[in-house]
Amino acid sequence: MLVLNSGSSSVKYQLLDMGDGARLATGLIERIGERTSLVRHVPLAAGGGSRERTGRIPDHEAALKAMAEELAEDGLGLDSPDLAAIGHRVVHGGLRFTEPTLIDDAVCAEIERLIPVAPLHNPANLTGIRTARALRPDLPQVAVFDTAFHTTMPEAAARYAIDVRTADEHRVRRYGFHGTSHAYVSRETAHLLGKAPEEVNVIVLHLGNGASASAVRGGKCVDTSMGLTPLEGLVMGTRSGDMDPAVIFHLMRVGGMSADEIDTLLNKRSGLVGLCGDNDMREIRRRVDEGDEEAKLAFDLYIHRLKKYIGAYCAVLGRVDAVAFTAGVGENSAPVREAAVQGLEGLGLALDGARNAARGDAPRLISPEGARVAVAVVPTDEEREIATQTYALVGKNN
Ligand code: ADP
Repeated sequence: MLVLNSGSSSVKYQLLDMGDGARLATGLIERIGERTSLVRHVPLAAGGGSRERTGRIPDHEAALKAMAEELAEDGLGLDSPDLAAIGHRVVHGGLRFTEPTLIDDAVCAEIERLIPVAPLHNPANLTGIRTARALRPDLPQVAVFDTAFHTTMPEAAARYAIDVRTADEHRVRRYGFHGTSHAYVSRETAHLLGKAPEEVNVIVLHLGNGASASAVRGGKCVDTSMGLTPLEGLVMGTRSGDMDPAVIFHLMRVGGMSADEIDTLLNKRSGLVGLCGDNDMREIRRRVDEGDEEAKLAFDLYIHRLKKYIGAYCAVLGRVDAVAFTAGVGENSAPVREAAVQGLEGLGLALDGARNAARGDAPRLISPEGARVAVAVVPTDEEREIATQTYALVGKNN
């Protein structure tokens, strides 16, 4: 199973053996279309270190050909008879795509129709799909949507309280993102507790550079923090998260800023970067420990928002069995986990200091033995989830 994640100027890929679950190869092609592009390939099955080369890769077609050459060098090329399907990450599936979907021309047209609500992501995802289909037209290819897991949200969580006709005309609603990760992590958390996903209620905190929380009841998402776009919700690396929407009118009317300038401000120059100039949590913690006030404000604001969502989702779920931390910050930053849970004993949340400080790659509990609510670190694996969903669908159709 080959998994492709095509961005506007990058392609990430992973090859997995679904027989034993082994990761055979991973790679990244960056700066597509720029003067010097970079190909980094890690031939995990073939052993040996990663291979890197630079050169100009003008477009996605050239990028996928470069990937195919790298894979072929390990004897696992795109033309290999062992390749059963390609799974594509697609950011926005709107209301139409609630499940992984076998790609045909009509599906491509629908992903294209969703470009107005995902102008940054869907065009790049689509380019990757079209290129891969041109290279292997005979192979089943499946789209796995970031929004799909959130389509189970009830209307009360999925709508904004604005005029219904205007909202519907422009498809304005809360779609949510990172769904593949929330699906995978909520399921893995249930397994960690020795339960079926249907039996447990989980709050998933996906804290990467982009960050989102979700409330998952019995395996189904009932609320999530990102909305029409990934801008809503938690404080992120460069995004503001929640804000009074009137800030935008104020910046337009009083600040003389254009819609595009405010878009860039809120998506690229806000969040941790806007507050203290850094978006890497390691650097922020280092600065906090040195007494840096700006970094401390950024950290405190990040934690304050996170706590608000934990509290809100406890209320949404009524009963919470587990809170799971995942992604770059969630998996690695013990200080963030400690600060986020501190003071929440009233909600049944507590940490075991030694467990929280211990590092590891496997899902693990960090709450004390016998705690009312389990707190866990559950590493996410979106590529594996895309491969699993693709495999399940292709298997069903054969
Ligand atoms: P994305 O996929 O959204 O780009 P990731 O899930 O890879 O993000 O997370 C990236 C972030 O993880 C970095 O910005 C960094 O702040 C954080 N991070 C990575 N390793 C650590 C660590 N050891 N301690 C704290 N934060 C970390």
